[in-house]
Amino acid sequence: MTRRPLVAGNWKMNGLKRSVDDLEKIIAGAERLPKVELIVCPPSTLIASFAEATRGSPVAIGGQDCHAMASGAHTGDIAAEMLKDAGAAAVIVGHSERRRDHGETDAAVRAKALAAKRAGLLAIVCVGETRAERQSGATLAVVGAQVDGSLPDDGADVVVAYEPVWAIGTGLTPTAADVAEVHSAIRRRLGSRYGHSGQGIRVLYGGSVNAANASELLGVDDVDGALVGGASLKPAEFLAIAGFYR
Ligand code: PEP
Repeated sequence: MTRRPLVAGNWKMNGLKRSVDDLEKIIAGAERLPKVELIVCPPSTLIASFAEATRGSPVAIGGQDCHAMASGAHTGDIAAEMLKDAGAAAVIVGHSERRRDHGETDAAVRAKALAAKRAGLLAIVCVGETRAERQSGATLAVVGAQVDGSLPDDGADVVVAYEPVWAIGTGLTPTAADVAEVHSAIRRRLGSRYGHSGQGIRVLYGGSVNAANASELLGVDDVDGALVGGASLKPAEFLAIAGFYR
């Protein structure tokens, strides 16, 4: 089954109103990259204006997190329905920084992924092992359990992002062989859980992807694109990564 590659940029807690200038550069570059789907995930303060700026363009906008509930007494949280209403098409859930800083469990991440589906958003569900887990040889067990626990029972409208925690924002990356091993294990797991439809679920790699290492990492079998953090803040670099799919 062919899967359309996806490159998503996670801006994390970066971006002000004037960052729309960077978004415009990404939109202009995206016009020349029809083979790849591009999503920019700015902070929630920018979602409505970015959605407006990307209207009719090949770039979609995503949130970085959502609450599991559709509304209610949850000060400071944002519902998937609100992201959708603001013009988002996707949302990242279970990023390791959320798991770490907000104690999000697999069950909580799964509830968020379900909320995303309920609201009509593509859920980008993040999984990945810590340095200690990799060193102890537990990577496949940890990532497998996260995939099982964090994904909804219906695999439609879900993307998995394999992001080794130790590779995020560090400049360190796994070898191509390590990436291949984890991605093929995830792919097998998706196949046994969802059957044929599981073959359509895209599995992204994330963790210190940049213009220089993109071709090595994105060229690995079973890698269907990238979730990009730091490098997504530089339009030319983000587009160079996506340009792998030229
Ligand atoms: C991320 O936070 O999702 C990420 C991949 O970050 P970076 O590219 O900066 O490692």
